Amino acid sequence: MPERIDWRQDGTPGGSAFSPRFGDRYHSELGGLDQAREVFFKGCGLPAAWASQPQWCILETGFGLGLNFLVTWAAWQADPLRPRLLHFVSLEAFPASADDVLRSAQAHPELFPLAEQLQRQLWGLLPGVHRLVFEGGRVLLTLHIGDAKALLQRATFTADSVFLDGFSPVVNPGIWDVHIFKAVARRCRRGTRVATWTVARSVRDSLAQCGFVMQKVPGTPPKRDNLQGQYQPAWEPRQSTAPPAPAPARCIVVGAGLSGAAVAASLARRGWRVTVLDAADAPAAGASSLPAGLLAPHVSPDDSVLSRLSRSGIRATLQQADALLHAGSDWDLTGVLEHCLEHPRRRPAAWQAGQALEGAAGDWTRQATPAQLDDCGLMPGTPALWHAQAGWIKPASLVRAWLAMPGVAWRGQAAVTRLVRKGDAWQVLGAAGQELASAELVVLAAGYASGALAPAVGLSPALALQAIRGQASWGLQAPDNAHALPPFPVNGHGSLLPAVPLAEGMAWLTGSTFERDSASCELRPGDAQDNFQKLQALLPSAVQALSPAFAAGQVRGWAGVRCATPSRLPALGPLDGAPGVWVCSGMGARGLSFAALCGELLAARLHGEPLPVEQRLADALRPPYAARITKSAA
Ligand SMILES: Cc1cc2nc3c(=O)[nH]c(=O)nc-3n(C[C@H](O)[C@H](O)[C@H](O)COP(=O)(O)OP(=O)(O)OC[C@H]3O[C@@H](n4cnc5c(N)ncnc54)[C@H](O)[C@@H]3O)c2cc1C
Repeated sequence: MPERIDWRQDGTPGGSAFSPRFGDRYHSELGGLDQAREVFFKGCGLPAAWASQPQWCILETGFGLGLNFLVTWAAWQADPLRPRLLHFVSLEAFPASADDVLRSAQAHPELFPLAEQLQRQLWGLLPGVHRLVFEGGRVLLTLHIGDAKALLQRATFTADSVFLDGFSPVVNPGIWDVHIFKAVARRCRRGTRVATWTVARSVRDSLAQCGFVMQKVPGTPPKRDNLQGQYQPAWEPRQSTAPPAPAPARCIVVGAGLSGAAVAASLARRGWRVTVLDAADAPAAGASSLPAGLLAPHVSPDDSVLSRLSRSGIRATLQQADALLHAGSDWDLTGVLEHCLEHPRRRPAAWQAGQALEGAAGDWTRQATPAQLDDCGLMPGTPALWHAQAGWIKPASLVRAWLAMPGVAWRGQAAVTRLVRKGDAWQVLGAAGQELASAELVVLAAGYASGALAPAVGLSPALALQAIRGQASWGLQAPDNAHALPPFPVNGHGSLLPAVPLAEGMAWLTGSTFERDSASCELRPGDAQDNFQKLQALLPSAVQALSPAFAAGQVRGWAGVRCATPSRLPALGPLDGAPGVWVCSGMGARGLSFAALCGELLAARLHGEPLPVEQRLADALRPPYAARITKSAA
């Protein structure tokens, strides 16, 4: 359930927010807006401090109703010298509902349009890290939901400004104690500015103990004092922040599928000049040429790493699709029914009805309703889940949109065979040994072929990647079968996308086969029968409608090669022994769920930015090696 807020009528438009949990108002007697502007924003020397910086990162200890974020975002919009990228990281143990956040902004008409954008993204806030994206990816809000100390301790980013906010130390001492400040200090560089509205002695003492040099400054009436300061410890701090970020320069991405295009877009947004090379004549020629694919989260009783990453990835993809694609023709947020054929998929216990996370989890996944089952011709009581934030996407549309971003150049007929280090850069060579391009950073995003390219770097052992061939079957909807298909995609053992507008007409698509250790893209007639059999188990009612097409041989095929890792998670990270060479591959059967997230994760890790996921999830994506060959053994 979202945090309960009582709205008290005191003449403020929309009412004044009161927390029954803490027995206190959300905003000070100053009103939230003045506090946000005067105490925090100006108290940290902004906007002068961020003028003309490539990036700026603000850490806030209590998101509350989001007012400090909205004020900072509005100031960023208004400032001609704004940083290219603004990161706002906020910690919140008890997130308010999206509606309450919007309601609190009613008192501030100038912020209301921003609050509406914020409200649209405030859903599904389960414990963990959530990345919300505004201004085409130039204003990034990272919400850490849960225990602030634990979340901060595991993070690695460097904060440039710190807003210490939250309910008062009297009612919420946990957010103002020395352990929190120690964790905050670990995210600061020498000189990071800190501001807060409380001048409580205990807060000042704890901050001093953690290396902050603070002073009381005159407050805005009726408040007498505020507190401002800097992280300037008398000792040399243990370095737990990221090393200095490389200045954006040139990058070559090998592979113009979902993975490569996503990386290119994320780096270009940060000022990199990116050249994407591909062996094929056109972008999205590999697995990403799939006519349309499904986007639906993975669910597991223990909310595994795969489940959590799939949700973060889907949020990232939806943000990109919403901003860059045409709904209805390139993609659609239809919702997806998961028919749990092999075993009932159990959701975590904390997501069940009446449990604390029911509301946030329900934004993602619920038990399918009898009406939804009926829409699919399935019997009442059939084990099935309903994924609300799910649908279908044409991968090639997303690839083309990413490649069209300023700062990205695409080149086809450029098969890469070798990489050679030359000074600070890598030379990327073609089959005849000719230089195709050179750059300080190279990202291998060539799907299964990334495995062969890694040894071509010269130093690295082979990557443990597996080719999994797959064939999907598709056909055009006929007037007599369209009504017999469900109104949304169905997933399970195989899947059915009932209505995807293709150049040839409105199409259905079903499949797919899984053929391990095959990198062939040839079409096999037997695979259509396999897909038909899967569909019989998944959706018997749809089979009746589609069997004439299968029987008449009117079903068309599409085949491609998935690239999987042993963990079934993507492979993302720098290659051992090859400075400046990264890999972004191993998307398996979930490229649409993972590529956008991996692009952002790569850029964030490279720049020491706040990550869009928890650190341990990012760590799970380390590229897997087939065998470790040390230099001395080689
Ligand atoms: C049958 C099937 C069904 C699928 N269904 C879904 C689905 O429903 N949902 C979903 O999310 N995912 C699905 N997938 C998976 C999805 O298609 C992939 O995860 C995704 O497309 C992988 O993108 P990629 O960029 O990593 O690889 P690719 O799209 O394969 O791109 C790799 C690129 O590298 C280029 N390349 C290779 N070698 C070189 C070289 N030496 N030099 C230069 N360029 C090179 C290739 O030409 C290619 O363009 C499916 C896959 C298959 C096969």
